[in-house]
Amino acid sequence: MSNKPPTAIIGGSGVKSIIKGDEKTIGTPYGPSPPITHSLVAGRSVYFLPRHGEHHQYPPHMVNYRANIWALRQLGVERIIATNAVGGINQELTPGDIVIPVDIIDMTKSRKGTFYDKAPVTHIDVSQPYCPTLRRLLIDTARMKKVNVHENIAMAATEGPRYETPAEIRMLRTVGCGIVGMTGAPEAFLARELQLCYASISFVSNMAAGLQRQLSAREVEEKGRETSNILNSVIVEAVANIPERHNDCPCSNALVQAQLVSNAAEVEQLAR
Ligand SMILES: [Zn+2]
Repeated sequence: MSNKPPTAIIGGSGVKSIIKGDEKTIGTPYGPSPPITHSLVAGRSVYFLPRHGEHHQYPPHMVNYRANIWALRQLGVERIIATNAVGGINQELTPGDIVIPVDIIDMTKSRKGTFYDKAPVTHIDVSQPYCPTLRRLLIDTARMKKVNVHENIAMAATEGPRYETPAEIRMLRTVGCGIVGMTGAPEAFLARELQLCYASISFVSNMAAGLQRQLSAREVEEKGRETSNILNSVIVEAVANIPERHNDCPCSNALVQAQLVSNAAEVEQLAR
């Protein structure tokens, strides 16, 4: 068993095929996590968390993002690689492309987006919302494998579960989003609130509303299978090469200067 801090992968059933091992559910203050699988990948301890539940039963707006991220921290995880299926807005993209998003606009509406509902009032810095070290690793790994990877693209996270309207897609393009998905937020922000490194490897499953080229069902299916194999191989290789120490990333000390006052007693004093 490796004594390096474990890494987690959050994603769908395609990724699960590479992580086989014991499963356990973790109790958290926000409810139980889905069954989380533990395994070793290249000698490194890895957990797989199925974002939408064991049987893919939770739609994006019903995922218990707080329980998921809390459970991973409870397991000692320090790094999270999240996979997201996204629609392409940027017209340089084609279905099957991989994007390591650099930024995100949170357009979700109904989700619990923070662990800090009480004092101390905490405003986490997200000027680099994704861990730069993990992003670099994913980009370099994908390039090494000759994968068509895009790195300077921002994601829009929408509420779902419906897809976007053509007018919404035009708006998202205008504000600088190149991809759109329903699971990017608040997951990335919750990870930062617990000082965990987090990056997303997104794959373009289709073009967004109004941009869809006509593809046959067979082409879509083949693209999905191809992409899933590519994703898995990039993830396995990246996990094997994750640096042991946090290098110059803002994640592991995110709470420094995030809290207006350092403890509840001070808050009480201020309230008097
Ligand atoms: Zn980091």
